[in-house]
Amino acid sequence: MASGGSYRNGTQKAPSSLRTSSSFKSKLPPSASSNGRRSSSAIDAVYGRVRVSVRLRPRNAEEMAADADFADCVEQQPELKRLKLRKNNWDSDTYEFDEVFTEFASQKRVYEVVAKPVVESVLDGYNGTVMAYGQTGTGKTYTLGRLGDEDVSARGIMVRSMEDILANICLETDSVSVSYLQLYMETIQDLLNPANDNIPIVEDQKTGDVSLPGATVVEVRDQQSFLELLRVGEAHRYAANTKLNTESSRSHAILLVQIKRSVPGREADFSAETDHSSHLSTNYKPPMLRKGKLVLVDLAGSERVNKSGSEGHMLEEAKSINLSLSALGKCINALAENSAHVPVRDSKLTRLLKDSFGGTSRTSLVITIGPSPRHRAETASTILFGQRAMKVENMLKIKEEFDYKSLSKRLEVQVDKLIAENERQQKAFEAEVERIRLEAQRHVIETERNYAEALKDEKMKCQVEYMESIKKLEEKWSLNQQKPTNNVRTGGACITEEASELKMLLQNEMQTRKAAEEEINKLKDQLHKFTKPGSAGGNSDILNLQSMLEEEIRQKKRLEEEVIVLRSQFSQLTMEAGQRTSYLDRSRNGTGLPGLDSLSPLRNLHCKDATNGERSSITNLHEQVGLHRILSLLESEDATVRIHAVKVVANLAAEEANQEKIVEAGGLNSLLMLLSNSEDETIRRIAAGAIANLAMSEANQELIMIQGGIALLAVTAADAEDPQTLRMVAGAIANLCGNDKLQTRLRSEGGIKALLGMVRSRHPDVLSQVARGIANFAKCESRASAQGQKAGRSSLIEDGALTWIVQNSNNEASMIRRHVELALCHLAQHEVNAKDMISGGALWELIRISRDCSREDIRSLARRTLTSSPTFQAEMRRLRIEL
Ligand code: ADP
Ligand code: MG
Repeated sequence: MASGGSYRNGTQKAPSSLRTSSSFKSKLPPSASSNGRRSSSAIDAVYGRVRVSVRLRPRNAEEMAADADFADCVEQQPELKRLKLRKNNWDSDTYEFDEVFTEFASQKRVYEVVAKPVVESVLDGYNGTVMAYGQTGTGKTYTLGRLGDEDVSARGIMVRSMEDILANICLETDSVSVSYLQLYMETIQDLLNPANDNIPIVEDQKTGDVSLPGATVVEVRDQQSFLELLRVGEAHRYAANTKLNTESSRSHAILLVQIKRSVPGREADFSAETDHSSHLSTNYKPPMLRKGKLVLVDLAGSERVNKSGSEGHMLEEAKSINLSLSALGKCINALAENSAHVPVRDSKLTRLLKDSFGGTSRTSLVITIGPSPRHRAETASTILFGQRAMKVENMLKIKEEFDYKSLSKRLEVQVDKLIAENERQQKAFEAEVERIRLEAQRHVIETERNYAEALKDEKMKCQVEYMESIKKLEEKWSLNQQKPTNNVRTGGACITEEASELKMLLQNEMQTRKAAEEEINKLKDQLHKFTKPGSAGGNSDILNLQSMLEEEIRQKKRLEEEVIVLRSQFSQLTMEAGQRTSYLDRSRNGTGLPGLDSLSPLRNLHCKDATNGERSSITNLHEQVGLHRILSLLESEDATVRIHAVKVVANLAAEEANQEKIVEAGGLNSLLMLLSNSEDETIRRIAAGAIANLAMSEANQELIMIQGGIALLAVTAADAEDPQTLRMVAGAIANLCGNDKLQTRLRSEGGIKALLGMVRSRHPDVLSQVARGIANFAKCESRASAQGQKAGRSSLIEDGALTWIVQNSNNEASMIRRHVELALCHLAQHEVNAKDMISGGALWELIRISRDCSREDIRSLARRTLTSSPTFQAEMRRLRIEL
């Protein structure tokens, strides 16, 4: 063996990963501290080898004296954590420990190295054990149990542990309680209540946890009360030992410290911002309860029985004491050797310390030795015990469970908070809804107001513009009226210019109206949007708005009608200008009035001679405004509008090209109704004129008959006083009289009577139309007789027309005279009329015509008629008249 000494057990180092003190020093086991989270059952575990330190007691007085000449049996190398046990002067065994404390080691440092890491673990929820093992008198109690009354720095591990615990817990949420027991001869006594002298050990079958039911448990809230408990315990230990006639070194003193700490869970944030369930599930951690148990064991002296020299009872006692100690040794051996069987059940001590060795506890063992070579064997045995204990590995487990009580309490608080918050949010929501509603209402009201104002402005604008236009037109009109007729050329040119100016004005007017219409449509759209269901706002407001809108529409219609009026005035002006121009032109060129035209009697409504541009402005009117619209205005409530509308229709009807369209659009019917219904003479006159114009075409003549037009015309013919009205009515009937197919009906529906009735007027214009009608009728009749379709004398004669015919056959008005002359000729061609004609004096008239008529054609017609009629011939012979 080398002089430098050999390693024994100490050479058999524990695996480096397990022997580093850093893992003990850390507050939490690596796995627990590294990921910062623990499962709820707190099963995370870490291997932890039993840490073993050796402490050497300084020589006491006796040793100083007795062993003065002897060297200590141990030599320490604390910096290498080694201890040499001398075998003799030249040989020693070297052992390595987790820590080697020399006789100068302070209580503070011993606590910090041996116990503090364990205490910290216990505070974190692990079980922890600090134990002192060694021969009696080597300083176990000194290390563990010194109260430090006389010297603060001498405070032992128990006192310092409690100081640390109390400094680290929160008394409001955490609790510390202690039990103080003594194990003597396999009996557990309660040092805090000596009457409890046989406390059983109970193991939980499931968890294996050991409990001592009946042991006094005192909650500690301050260091002072703890010190008091320790004193009480020490006193009871002393008393018990005195009673049992033994020493405290024979018993094991066990201080149990229970720490319950509540670990605040990561509260789910129930506030409004983070109320997502996913968030809740990932971050929420319920509050936990951590239960750490610190066991501080001041073991009985480890000296061998034989050394103590005990006998009898003492021997039994030594056996019992050693039973527990030797059982502990055996267990530690078994654990150190990884033996399958660990005899935990052999003693109460091993049962009590089941968790401390090979269990889940963090365990720190301090072995105490004395320096005296006389106790070398005990020292060696102690060292060997420590060496074996170093090989024992524990599986550290955190002891924590759900803190259901505090969880439910907190949840209750949280629920109340949420209810309150919910109510607040509900109210805030309602307030917000109300605010939005009011805002929308305000918005609607504002929009309505804007709309109404815009409408008002627009209306005003339109009215002003219309007024101005009308004023301008009136000015132009009066200017036109005042133009001297002798200024023929310039007058005609001016009128044309003015007409085109008026046209411009009218176009501007139309544009303004169009813009106004667009604006109104836009506003209508806006209103429609705001009154859509769902948008807020009072119904009454919307109704008001709607009635306003309707009023606006009526206003618009009125304005449109005014436009028509303006148009009509314009066309009148244009037409009159045209007429005047053509009249002046004709005067200049020396052409007089046109010759007789049986189908175009109403020249002043038919401006044939207007310039092309002017005529188109009239005839295209219906294209610009729309014929239907013009016709609809015939029924306007406004009399002025009706007049202008009927004027426009009459103007249009004067153009052959328009006649068909007017009839197609129902214009004829409207005009007939107007004729029969209207009390306004002007309207009736113009309507009759329009009908007369329409009656020029054969197709329309039939339509007039079909629509009962003849009866309506007859009513007007009977009622009207105005010669111009009568003239138009007579003209219309006269046109109908020229249709061969209508003869019978015309007469049977009173057409002829109406025509003849109008002679009461005596106005040459009326008489002229009546005469034309009679002539037309007579002509058709004579044609029908010639074709054998008509038998019997003329209806005209039947209806008593002959007298008037005879009376007017020499009328001074050439138009009347000629129509009558023609009528007489036609009547005379039918022999059956001859007798009546002779008796009525018509023969004389015929003879006169055949002699005097200025028109050659009529003169010869009369002569032919007279010659060809046997009755006339006979009469003429009787009267000795020669042609
Ligand atoms: P044990 O409990 O192991 O029987 P004690 O703790 O009673 O031993 O110690 C025996 C004596 O030795 C006591 O008087 C104690 O004060 C003293 N002693 C023990 N260890 C030390 C130490 N490290 N320094 C000073 N005195 C000590
Ligand atoms: Mg002691």
